[in-house]
Amino acid sequence: MASSTKSAARKSAVRKSITRAPNVRASGKSLAQELSEVLDVVRLHAASFPSRTVRTRITLSLDSGARLDLEFSGASDVEFGPEFNEHICVGQEFVLEGPGKSIDDLDLGASGRAAAQNLLDQFPDEVKFTSGRRTIASQASAMAPNVVKNRKWIQETYKDTPQRAALQKWVDDHPDATTASAIAAGLESVMNKWTLDQQRNFSRHISGDAFDVQPVAGDTGKKIKEAIGKLPKLHWHTFEEGGLEIWHAQFNP
Ligand SMILES: [Zn+2]
Repeated sequence: MASSTKSAARKSAVRKSITRAPNVRASGKSLAQELSEVLDVVRLHAASFPSRTVRTRITLSLDSGARLDLEFSGASDVEFGPEFNEHICVGQEFVLEGPGKSIDDLDLGASGRAAAQNLLDQFPDEVKFTSGRRTIASQASAMAPNVVKNRKWIQETYKDTPQRAALQKWVDDHPDATTASAIAAGLESVMNKWTLDQQRNFSRHISGDAFDVQPVAGDTGKKIKEAIGKLPKLHWHTFEEGGLEIWHAQFNP
């Protein structure tokens, strides 16, 4: 399959006729395989199916050249963490080899730094930090390419805060800003005016109150996860975001 899209909930959706491209060649896949892949798309993009959605339409372009339109109706029962839509780790760096970042590299505030040290003391050989404080410039640069593709990406991605509204307003007010660099500069100009509390309300990576840990497999991984959940001044943590394994912990200052 090449792509998938979903429509927002529409109470009075007009049912469009299903269109199919000519079946120019056999795909080599059974219908069961294709449907299995469809379900994988749904599973990996649970965030696209919030609980208030009553109808979702997915269009799939199959390898065979055929197009498959699926429509799901009925309320979704997908559950979310309290800050699922925060996209807290957007722009995160992955460290797959090497020692990871030192606690000094993370550049955290007092609570985050103490928690990182606590975790490292418990698992000195296993814990690798991949991300800590993120500058406003790097946060803006990480967001901009998504806005190039979708002008409403900020509104659709982040939790509802005055900060989100201010960033989306900048995008809406600047239709001529279409390149990633122009958008990044604009978003940065908005975020640079924020107080520390406002930064924290948007992303605790910006305020230096969050870090990411490289996922660890097996029993050791389980123990590290338990330890993260018990860190002092923990505000919230997650091990999964939008189908990706991301170990993120954020703290009260
Ligand atoms: Zn994070």
